[in-house]
Amino acid sequence: LALKVLEARAAAVSARSVELLSARVVVAAAIFDNGRLLAQQRSYPPDAAGKWELPGGRVEPDETDHAAVIRECAEELSVTVTPGAGIGPDIPLRSDLLLRAYTATLTSGTPTPTDHQAVRWLTSATLTTVDWLPADRVLLPTLLSHLP
Ligand code: C5P
Repeated sequence: LALKVLEARAAAVSARSVELLSARVVVAAAIFDNGRLLAQQRSYPPDAAGKWELPGGRVEPDETDHAAVIRECAEELSVTVTPGAGIGPDIPLRSDLLLRAYTATLTSGTPTPTDHQAVRWLTSATLTTVDWLPADRVLLPTLLSHLP
């Protein structure tokens, strides 16, 4: 019986691994500027409206993660960014979707929300004072360690 239980567990873990290997990536941009981090407030869907997140979105097929960061920041904030290193762990959003954050710096423009309610520059003192989406919350310790 013990063997059957272990076999079933191994099969479940292996199925989950295959699921994650084929998962789509949602990139997020941790835009640091002048000792602050940019956050934006969602306006939809209803269960996420009002919550704060790093800018980002789904990587399109045949698009690199960096290209997706650049495109999403242009679409959502009307800015040009230069993406950098990955930051923090990959975070499972659903069975087939992973959130992956990259540092980024502003190259041109002033962040202006197109689809979002608001944007805010957060410091180490204010980082945890806004209501973050659950997945982004996982990144807070790492983000905090990048703020002066
Ligand atoms: O923005 P979009 O709807 O394309 O994002 C796809 C999914 O990724 C959504 O479920 C959204 O809540 C999630 N997401 C997130 N944190 C971000 C960006 C997106 O949890 N910083």
